[in-house]
Amino acid sequence: MIVVMKPEATEEQINEVEEKLMDLGFSVHFSQGVDYTTLGAIGDKSGIDPRELEILNEGVAKVTEISEPYKLAGRDFHPRDSVIELGDVRIGGEQPVTMAGPCAIESEEQVEIIAKHVSAHGASVLRGGAFKPRTSPYSFQGLGEEGLKYMRKAADNHGLKMVTEVMGKTQVGLVSSYADILQIGARNMQNYNLLREVGKTNRPVLLKRGFSSTVEEFLMAAEYVMSEGNEEVILCERGIRTFSNETRFTLDLSVVPVIKDESHLPIIIDPSHSTGVRDKVIPMARAGIAAGADGMIVEVHHEPEKAKSDGPQSLRPGQFAELMDQVNRITETISNKPVVA
Ligand code: PEP
Ligand code: MN
Repeated sequence: MIVVMKPEATEEQINEVEEKLMDLGFSVHFSQGVDYTTLGAIGDKSGIDPRELEILNEGVAKVTEISEPYKLAGRDFHPRDSVIELGDVRIGGEQPVTMAGPCAIESEEQVEIIAKHVSAHGASVLRGGAFKPRTSPYSFQGLGEEGLKYMRKAADNHGLKMVTEVMGKTQVGLVSSYADILQIGARNMQNYNLLREVGKTNRPVLLKRGFSSTVEEFLMAAEYVMSEGNEEVILCERGIRTFSNETRFTLDLSVVPVIKDESHLPIIIDPSHSTGVRDKVIPMARAGIAAGADGMIVEVHHEPEKAKSDGPQSLRPGQFAELMDQVNRITETISNKPVVA
């Protein structure tokens, strides 16, 4: 339920509505519009007559019931776009953000070489897994904490923020002590205990869409994180399963404008895991940015033939430079402003 106050509503009138909602057992979420305040009531509304609130005082403009189950992630409670700030990196702001790096951290030298290159070409966040969710238990599982150390060092050396996956609840403390952004992988999108745990941290969360999840399930996963107090969620479309098997998954680009309607959260795209083949990454990244995504997360490797995971979908350094050049030109065309380095 949302209570919209009139532009001329006084502070006392707003406070009275807040107290009333709390007495009724709701938790209250404020949103400040250009000239009006709205109070979002979260909780069980059965047995409550909205008219009771409508006539509470002269400051109330209207009371609207919300049917969407995602109150915190939805736009109704929070009409303006959320921008997640990490130092001077703004995710969901005017310009798309690029997160780039290897699939997995393999050695100190490997992550250093890649970090240097992606930073030089305009990435602002270093990606890479230290704990890897592999389909086979016999495949390389990541370097663990050693990988986190190498990654932190390389990110700091090149002025990058760092995003890495946290696979289980017990790793949240460790990963948060190194990473700027906690990644929840597609396979864990509905691991509700893990979502709650990252919701208790003060680190932004990059939430990847489960590959057979609906938009509602995706936003409800974000809601889990947000309901614990952490409202800094970045959504990521990383491809879903369809009958099309020419690419690893199908990048569902229509979800970008759909999410923009439904939610205030930023959404980025992953053209690497969705296509699975490096030659398809650049065209799909261009399409994603043109569709309005707030950024992309891309795999890059200086020696993809030797990569311990996802070599075939990792861009070569030269391809990454080409991708950034093309994406910048698209951004400038859409925004009519030069890209700030
Ligand atoms: C990744 O980005 O490292 C990854 C494993 O992706 P996903 O969870 O989308 O498969
Ligand atoms: Mn990968």
